[in-house]
Amino acid sequence: MTKNAQSAPLPALAPGTALIDTHCHLDFPDYQADLAQVLDRAREAGVARIVTVGIDLPTSRAAVELAARHPTLFATVGVHPHHVKELAATDYARLRELARHPRVVAYGEIGLDYVKDYSPPAMQREHFSRQVRLAADLALPLVIHDREAHADTMAILREAMPLPAGGVMHCFSGDAAFAEEVLALGFYISIPGVVTFPKAEAMQEAVRQVPLERLLLETDGPFLAPVPRRGKRNEPQLLLHTAQKVAELKGIPLDEVARATTANAERLFRLKEKGHVDR
Ligand SMILES: [Zn+2]
Ligand SMILES: [Zn+2]
Repeated sequence: MTKNAQSAPLPALAPGTALIDTHCHLDFPDYQADLAQVLDRAREAGVARIVTVGIDLPTSRAAVELAARHPTLFATVGVHPHHVKELAATDYARLRELARHPRVVAYGEIGLDYVKDYSPPAMQREHFSRQVRLAADLALPLVIHDREAHADTMAILREAMPLPAGGVMHCFSGDAAFAEEVLALGFYISIPGVVTFPKAEAMQEAVRQVPLERLLLETDGPFLAPVPRRGKRNEPQLLLHTAQKVAELKGIPLDEVARATTANAERLFRLKEKGHVDR
């Protein structure tokens, strides 16, 4: 299913305009065979920078290694709720050390997932809280994963306030009312390709309501490819379809979505302060 990644026409950005894919898992086996081409296609489409996200200790390490090799990639470090049951007490020191790498721009993805319950919920909450405190200690913004766990996720974040480095609710899956709560925390909301699915009406309404200054875009590749590539492997170039949908929902030009969401990602991840202005 990887062959015809260029067969669906991509919306085009104006010259000098670019997007940032704020959440992708480039170290996953899905990209092993053709990562160089995936990155080339992203660049050609105007997805100039990509944040590659860790979900456990080995993938966090892989994310940092990728970001260290490619000037357009940045990394996050953290343990996903699915994987917290594999965490050993000594792993926290390793996570802390890894998170200090200069290419690490956020801590995550961390949070709660009550859909799959791969790790027991109480254990998920304990490690979520603990990682929130670690990120605060490191002054890193948070990348939050929340599936069917809105109330507990918000309770843990509120308890940890203030979190001066802020964070993002990645792969936002709530409605406009939940978006309000997330915004009230000072967090950003990251919109995945799901927003292009016809049944994603609640998310589409949330996109209409949330100020453009608080939105980020992500693929969450290799998962959740947007229409017209739904069901196929996702990859950063397909972020253009998601950006186009957001532009339609907001009734503004695609380039305005690109400029705003890029500025938002630069602000949250402090890309300029860190000298990461590479285009
Ligand atoms: Zn996630
Ligand atoms: Zn993810």
